[in-house]
Parts: sequence; C-alpha cells; structure tokens
Amino acid sequence: MSVMSHDVTIKCYPLRHQLCTNLPQLLLCTVFPTMADKKPFYSSNPQDTSFRRTWDRDEYERKARERARADREKDDDEDRKLKGLAPKSRSSSNRPNPPRDLLKAREEKVVLDANLNKTQVVQSAAGLASKQPGYYCKVCDCTVKDSVNYLDHINGKKHQKAMGMSMRVEKSTVDQVKERLLALKRKAEQTDEKEYDLDARIEAAKREEEEGKRRRKERKKQKREEERGGKESDVPATEEDDEMAKLMGFGGFKTSKT
Ligand SMILES: [Zn+2]
Repeated sequence: MSVMSHDVTIKCYPLRHQLCTNLPQLLLCTVFPTMADKKPFYSSNPQDTSFRRTWDRDEYERKARERARADREKDDDEDRKLKGLAPKSRSSSNRPNPPRDLLKAREEKVVLDANLNKTQVVQSAAGLASKQPGYYCKVCDCTVKDSVNYLDHINGKKHQKAMGMSMRVEKSTVDQVKERLLALKRKAEQTDEKEYDLDARIEAAKREEEEGKRRRKERKKQKREEERGGKESDVPATEEDDEMAKLMGFGGFKTSKT
C-alpha cells in the first residue's frame, strides 16, 4: 500500500505477530521525505558560515589581559624572591571590582521553621555543606547551625556579595523622605478606619457567641427532660441482672431514685 501526499510518501506494511496469530494485524508505517524536500549537498553557499561557533571577543580579550597581568605579577614576585625581598602585596582592593548594586530590602519573608522536622537532600559542590544538619544557603553553598546564625548569614557581607549587592545603602533625597512620611500618615488614617470596623465585628462576634450559648443551654435542657421521661418508664431488667440478684439474695436491681 502506498499513499502519496504532496511532500511525503507514506508506505504501510501489514505486520503479523509471529507468536500469536490471533492478535490483530499491526500496521508499520514509515515516512520517507521525497526528493523535492531535499537540497542537493553541493549546491549550498560556500560563503555561508552561520553554522560555525562564534566567540565573545571582548570577554576573551579581558580574560587574556587578566592572564597576562597575572603572569607578569608572578615573574615580578620570582625576581624579588631571587633578590631576597618579600613578594609585593596585592590586596584585592587594588584590583578594579565590578560595580555591585546598592543594598536592597528583602521582599520575601524569611520563614525560619518552614523546613522544620524535614529532611532535604542538597546538591553541594564542595561536599561539606550536605554533611551536617542545619540551615542551608543555596546561594553560598554553605550550612549554618541555627536560626540565629542563619539570619546573621543572610544579612551578612559574604551572602550579600554573592547576591551581587554591596553593603552600601541608597542615599535618600528630601523628596523621598517627604513621600515616605506622607505614606505613613495615610496608612495611619486607614488603620483608624479599620479599628472602627474591628469594633463592629467584635460586637457581632459577641452576639453570635451569646446566641450559641443560649441554643446550647436549650438543647441541654431538652435532653435532661427527655432523660427524666425515659427513667420514669420502667426499663426491663436483663437476664444477667436477675441471675446476679438471685445469687446475692435479693429481688433485683432497682433504682432508688424516684
Ligand atoms: Zn548565603
């Protein structure tokens, strides 16, 4: 069987199951691309090199400069060592650091007991962080022992640096301060309105509670009355009770209450 569609040829072969001929016949379908779909290999443009990999020239130039500088420093240090001098101190502050963002307030809430009584498997590159229990910081790949240390860590310099922030905070302008004060004032006014609402709600809750109490009391009263009615009609004593009564030498178990 052969079906021609406009650009692919579909050939279907009936296939009989070799072990069990009772099974329905399966159709094995193969899709062949037709020649119209194929481009001759040698007709492609030899100037087209878009398939080749490309490189970030600036990035590699920066890396090359860095490497050359490190080599130069190493040579200098070796020369100084031969002369009997201590190697030049090159603290990290001398090197130009990439500018980091100003310190920003955290937007998400820190829930310290979110993973309480839970076991989590962490992927730790150094391998040390995953070996002890405690609070794990994904950013710095480290584990601290308790919540106090964890808070210290996430507010600390090392963690903020890993987050791409410096410890400097933005300097506020006069306008920003004024705006903030206004916002606080507006918020205070809003909470006053809410308090009024709260009083009304407390009143409603009290009323509801009293209603509930009254209903419960009524139900209890009704139950008690029902019980009293049930006791007045004499309950037939069971055989066991009668036997026990005979054994002990008196007529039977009867309530003394009337
Ligand atoms: Zn951290």
